[in-house]
Amino acid sequence: MADPPRRGRPSAPTFIVPPPLPPVDLPNLDINIRQLAAVTSLVFDCMRWLAEHRLITNTFTCQACDQPMRLQKREGRDYIDGYAWCCPGCQRRNSIRVNSFF
Ligand SMILES: [Zn+2]
Repeated sequence: MADPPRRGRPSAPTFIVPPPLPPVDLPNLDINIRQLAAVTSLVFDCMRWLAEHRLITNTFTCQACDQPMRLQKREGRDYIDGYAWCCPGCQRRNSIRVNSFF
C-alpha cells in the first residue's frame, strides 16, 4: 500500500549535492579564473561547486545527537552564506563552512 500523501513543507535536504558525489581530482583541476567566476557567481551554485570539489562538506552529522543535519536557508548577520546546517533533533546550527578552511 502506498504511503499517504505528506502534508506541509517538504523536509530540507541533508546534502548540498545529491549523492554520490562525482569523482574529483582537485590537484589536476583544469579551470581558469573566468570559468571559476562563472560557476561560482550565485551563492547556491558556489556551494554546489565547493561541495562537489570537497572544499566544504556535502553532508554534516550533528555532533550532539548523531543525526544528519539539514541544509536550511537562513537570513541574518549570523548566516553570511544564506544557508546553515540545522539539526532536526536538538536545533543546533552549524555553518556550511564547518571543517573547511573557509
Ligand atoms: Zn542535534
